[in-house]
Amino acid sequence: MKFCVAPHMKTSTTHSNTEISRTLKSLIKNRLSKDIIRYLESITQLGDRLNVSIYAVGGFVRDLILNVPNKDIDIVVEGEGIPFAVCLAELFGGKVKSHEKFGTSVVTLSNGDRIDVATARTEYYKHPAALPIVEKGSIKSDLFRRDFTVNSMAIKLTGSNAFCLIDFFDGEKDLRSRKIHVLHSLSFIDDPCRLFRAIRFEQRFGFEIGRQEQVFMRTSIKKNLVDSLSGTRLFNEIKLLLNEKKTMDCIRRMQEFDLFQFVSPEIFKGSQDLEVLERLESIFLSEEKRIVIGKPKVWYVYLLGLFYSLDEVAFLKAAKRLDLSNRIKKSLHEDRTHCRQSLKKLTSKNECGPLEIYHAFAKLSVEGIVFLIALSSTNRINQYANIYFTQYQGRVEPFLTGNDLLKMGMEPGPVFKFVFNALREARIKGSVKSREEEIALVEERFLKP
Ligand code: ATP
Repeated sequence: MKFCVAPHMKTSTTHSNTEISRTLKSLIKNRLSKDIIRYLESITQLGDRLNVSIYAVGGFVRDLILNVPNKDIDIVVEGEGIPFAVCLAELFGGKVKSHEKFGTSVVTLSNGDRIDVATARTEYYKHPAALPIVEKGSIKSDLFRRDFTVNSMAIKLTGSNAFCLIDFFDGEKDLRSRKIHVLHSLSFIDDPCRLFRAIRFEQRFGFEIGRQEQVFMRTSIKKNLVDSLSGTRLFNEIKLLLNEKKTMDCIRRMQEFDLFQFVSPEIFKGSQDLEVLERLESIFLSEEKRIVIGKPKVWYVYLLGLFYSLDEVAFLKAAKRLDLSNRIKKSLHEDRTHCRQSLKKLTSKNECGPLEIYHAFAKLSVEGIVFLIALSSTNRINQYANIYFTQYQGRVEPFLTGNDLLKMGMEPGPVFKFVFNALREARIKGSVKSREEEIALVEERFLKP
């Protein structure tokens, strides 16, 4: 399939504008869900009624042409974006949240669907990696501020020439030749986040970063420009990469470009680190294991893997660099510590009993358990984890509550912790199976004079 730009936007065309509109219309009809088509129709009608030019842009257009599902509608208004978003929210009975400074809004519909609305804008970078200065602009300047040609196409939704593809930078050609190209040579200098984005899209779609682009990337890396990114932006990009389906391909590519040095120079210093991460990938790919482990946060498990062999000082430094919240930092710290302890315990004996299995896993997050399975090259820990998930997790909590203990005449205090531990252990061993048996155990062990 080949598209052309709208004739008034670019001169060389081989197809007529009507022909392109017809093709795009049929892609929309055949590839998008009924809901999204309904949203687009309403956006078009509202734009025409208010006499403003509206465009669908970015990843939405890229994924439509690639036939990749994408629920996010990204639209740009040539004019005032925020009032348009307010009207749209009224029309759909949704909510709108706006950022005056950037002229952007998010419209959230009652079913949770989102439409991003932006004012067409031009961006300037005062210095590398700074947040850009934003000014109102045309669709052309809005597309020129974007990262890659494949992300810089738009579909006009309003006016007489609606449904033409606007493609100033040959994005559609790059989609066909499967290339990641930037729009200008300073792109990775202006915004080093694009180093990570280039890898993300390259690996997600099986594209290739252009040869020139690789040189531009290495220049930006050599100048250490990633160091000037805020922790939040850097973490966000890394999290997105670790959440990609082909995580290991992304990680290997980041390693090729030596991008982990900007989080910590110690990452991948351990000889086993890569092997453990590869085992992690095979766990996520295994249908059978996926059912048992449920839905862990994939990015977190990989981050735990990247941080695992760092010593405490390097770990804290890396966490600070990524500006991790205290909650994530604490959780990573605990999982690192408990993974080490549990690995030692579970592998130091030939066979472990129910209590040992329970205690080895109970202190870990689900993500920590998945990582613990990957840490060992044998199947043993995996088998223990299966026992934990299927027999103990959430199934051995005592029936009795603190109130029950009070009613039974116990004095509140640290003793409650002992009682609950005893009840839990009895449940794990199978010596207690009901509320009545728990009451009997408490009376026998804690209330008898
Ligand atoms: P995904 O499918 O991962 O959400 P996306 O292309 O929709 O991909 P977003 O991060 O939602 O990615 O960004 C939407 C659009 O905004 C992109 O397609 C791109 O045009 C533009 N964009 C996002 N981040 C940048 C950036 N750092 N520099 C330039 N343009 C960007």
